Amino acid sequence: MGPGVAVECLEGKNGLHLYEDHFLPEIIDPEKLQPVAYGEKGELVITTLTKEAIPLVRYRTRDLTTLNADHCVCGRTTLRMGRITGRTDDMLIIRGVNVFPSQIESVILKIDGVEPYYQLIVDRDGPLDTLEVRVEVNDRIPFDEIKVLETMERKIEHDIKDYLGVNARVKLVEPKSIERSAGKAVRVIDKRKKQ
Ligand SMILES: [Zn+2]
Repeated sequence: MGPGVAVECLEGKNGLHLYEDHFLPEIIDPEKLQPVAYGEKGELVITTLTKEAIPLVRYRTRDLTTLNADHCVCGRTTLRMGRITGRTDDMLIIRGVNVFPSQIESVILKIDGVEPYYQLIVDRDGPLDTLEVRVEVNDRIPFDEIKVLETMERKIEHDIKDYLGVNARVKLVEPKSIERSAGKAVRVIDKRKKQ
């Protein structure tokens, strides 16, 4: 797409000004597929206005961001796009709450004694979604000290609830016990039946 769809101004530095003469941006709710208001987070959808031969009509980028129509100090009047905070492909909906693995990761990264290897196991218990988070401890944590592990597990559960608003069950697992594929952990196992 040539030079891109948006650029940040030096004066405002509060979002990327979209090239609205070339692109028509929209933000939609990725589940309901309806437009959301400016400032609300959703999926960026782009329609090209000047591109010939291969135009895109309401192309779903899968990127989650916001559009901002407020006045910018630089004087440009185009819509601005916020930071991309996730991908819709990664989004899990757990009891109606949007959850991104990256959000869980950011909680885990702040915890001493664990590695950024984790797995999210989503399942259903009757009508309710359940989320289990398996996290690898590092080898400085004595894995036979149940009390230590339990304290850490409750702390991570508390931080996840605090940050994301969802109840998760955290289970610490031994170093290097989470299956890797191409060096990375397989992060999400969704056992719920797809309709
Ligand atoms: Zn500006």
